[in-house]
Amino acid sequence: MSQRIPVIEGLFAERSDGPRLIGSRCTTCATPYFPKSPVCHNPGCDQSKMEDAAFGPTGVLFSFAVQNYPPPPPAKYDEPYRPYAVGMVDLPEGLRVLGRIATDDFSQLRGGLPVHLIVDRMYHDSEGNEVVTWQFRPAPVLAQADDRRMKP
Ligand SMILES: [Zn+2]
Repeated sequence: MSQRIPVIEGLFAERSDGPRLIGSRCTTCATPYFPKSPVCHNPGCDQSKMEDAAFGPTGVLFSFAVQNYPPPPPAKYDEPYRPYAVGMVDLPEGLRVLGRIATDDFSQLRGGLPVHLIVDRMYHDSEGNEVVTWQFRPAPVLAQADDRRMKP
């Protein structure tokens, strides 16, 4: 029976309150790390004290690129290949994280676009398992409450 398995263990979690990236934070200087770091790399920090931390689920797209052709190994994807976007996302916790951008409408992508962390399929492995990873989905555009007042 096919299963849903993470592409790498320990990088993200699907919690009851939604997905989170799993990293760490220095309790001395508050520097966040993703993935986890065993020590603090802040040169201005005089006492490295690390604790686990969870990041997300909201972020803002900083930049992106569209992978228009199949990437070389070891990248894996389902056939037939479908172009996908990869973006750098700023998290409010002070991290800039690389991830797939879950949309087929690349024309809507721009810097400053609000996004939400999700966990979704990357590809199927040879046993038919769904291999999942963290991704960012453009946040729904909220309807402008005052649209009617703008009309003549
Ligand atoms: Zn530190």
